[in-house]
Amino acid sequence: MDKKKLRNDIILILAVLIAALAAWGVIALTQRPGREVLVEIKGSVTASYPLDRDLRIDIVTEDGHVNTLVIEGGRARIEAADCPDKLCVKQRAISKAGESIICLPHKLVIRISGESGVDGTV
Ligand SMILES: [Zn+2]
Repeated sequence: MDKKKLRNDIILILAVLIAALAAWGVIALTQRPGREVLVEIKGSVTASYPLDRDLRIDIVTEDGHVNTLVIEGGRARIEAADCPDKLCVKQRAISKAGESIICLPHKLVIRISGESGVDGTV
């Protein structure tokens, strides 16, 4: 009786482990090495740029508003914007997985992709 229960537990643990490994494998396969800067407008990703390559680009929203994204030395920030509050410009540069800069008036989010915490560097 107890033995059977133990075996069931082991099977359950194995199943969970396999599922976790499979999920990890999918993440490892779909995510390229190195982090990326994701540009989200109104909740959908419209562009992505490698964080390790310096870049200066104007992100233009549907309404014709502009946020100037700068990637420099592994950090991303909004250098200029024509939004009324300029909160996105004032936000600190981001470099870690999961960090983001949000421009509410433009419904724009700059986000660092990547596996936050998994690689232990955060
Ligand atoms: Zn803004």
